[in-house]
This record gives sequence, structure tokens and C-alpha cells, in this order.
Amino acid sequence: MEYMVDFAHFLLKKATCCICSKTLNGSKHLNLAILDKKATWKSPVWMSSLDHQVRAVAVVCDGCHNENPGFVEIVKYAIEVREDEIMLHNVDELENVEPINILPDFNTGSMKDVKYMPFIGYN
Ligand SMILES: [Zn+2]
Repeated sequence: MEYMVDFAHFLLKKATCCICSKTLNGSKHLNLAILDKKATWKSPVWMSSLDHQVRAVAVVCDGCHNENPGFVEIVKYAIEVREDEIMLHNVDELENVEPINILPDFNTGSMKDVKYMPFIGYN
């Protein structure tokens, strides 16, 4: 978990929003969106226990997250982190995978109908 927290810190500091391209510096939450797109890189990705497909993820600023209830649909980029370099992949250029709509809740493990998780929060 320590690694995850460091990783979240890193993304909040260095990454830009995958919708509006602004820095995540002002965001209190790291909002992760899971995309129905195949990830061909190592990290960060999300693998579903439902279909074992490795999916690309996006990070979204608090503003875009709060203003757009269906924000997963308007994500423009998926994020890749290699060493400490951030690369963005245009979602239109990624291979589609079969959509899944039911995901386990990050905190409780229960299944719910969401496509994103507020990964970590800061005050
Ligand atoms: Zn944004």
C-alpha cells in the first residue's frame, strides 16, 4: 500500500488530467477511470477478475470529475508511467475491449455499477 500511496502522490504532482489536460496539482483526489481499452503497457493498468483483460486507466482532475457525471465517456487519454516518465495514449488509437460495467468496490470488495474510483484523498 505504501507503494500505491507514493504512486498516487507522484501522479497528483506530475500527471495532467486526461480530459482537460490541466495539472492535477489542485486536485484533492486522484480520480481513476477504467477504460474499455486494451493496455499494451505495464503501469498503471486495471485487470478485471471477470474477464482477465488488462485495461487502460485514466486520471481525471476533481473539476472534470465533479462537472461530468459520465466523465469516463469523455476521457481523451489513457496514462502510462514508465520509470518516472508519463506518457499519454490517445484513446481513439487503442484497441477496444468488451465493456464491463460491474466493478468491485475498491474499499469493500462488493460489486457496484461504477467505472471509476476516487483512489486516494488529501485534505
Ligand atoms: Zn480535468
